[in-house]
Amino acid sequence: MIADRYDAFLFDLDGVLYRGDEPIEGAAGTVATLRSLGKGLAFMTNNSSRTPEAIAAQLTGLEIEARGDEVETSALATAELLRSRAVASAYVVGEEGLRDALAAAGLSVVDGNAADADSVVVGWDRGFDYAELATACVLIQRGATLVASNADATFPAADGLVLPGTGAIIAAIQTATGAHAEVVGKPNAPIFRAALDRAGGGRPLVIGDRLDTDVEGARRLGWDSVLVLTGITTKADLDSNDPPTYVVERLDRLIEDD
Ligand SMILES: [Mg+2]
Repeated sequence: MIADRYDAFLFDLDGVLYRGDEPIEGAAGTVATLRSLGKGLAFMTNNSSRTPEAIAAQLTGLEIEARGDEVETSALATAELLRSRAVASAYVVGEEGLRDALAAAGLSVVDGNAADADSVVVGWDRGFDYAELATACVLIQRGATLVASNADATFPAADGLVLPGTGAIIAAIQTATGAHAEVVGKPNAPIFRAALDRAGGGRPLVIGDRLDTDVEGARRLGWDSVLVLTGITTKADLDSNDPPTYVVERLDRLIEDD
């Protein structure tokens, strides 16, 4: 089986393990089988809005066993990057997961009509509004750096449609300021390396539903990848440039005998 060739399985979430509120067929059984084989697992998401514990609880609710310490989010990777640079304060356009991660890394998280901040940190924010956009733009004009947890243009919703992602919010701030955001999440390397650490190292396989984040991030690191056709990418989207190592219709193809 494909799984025999790897030690660490780095799973994207949306479009791979669930879509909206619904589990994807074959996902729970595949994760359980990999666990029973003693494989390392990590659950990796560019979504910055939720805490690792909340994500693990959601997966467990879908009968996919997961622990908080197996979850790597773009919020955690962003917090680690800013901590490593000794950035002291952040005005956050984002939700609880991003705020919690930055505070836990020792940054001062400023809110409301902030007069000053070292950085403007952007993640997915369902409450994003004009007042937040205006504050972010003023702070950047005063010298704050612009950092984004990810730049996904969209994410898949339960009914097969797509909704605006963090990239759409960043575009508003960039358009108004002329600033260019530094992006931490997939397809950039830090989140992949952090996820491999969580899985215990070894030879990694990245499993995702997006060519531009999951597959591209693996390619940049020279890692193998699986594109699973249960999410945003269809067969028609595939081309011959930099293809994933494997393309599968269902996740349980990984654990079927060759
Ligand atoms: Mg996905």
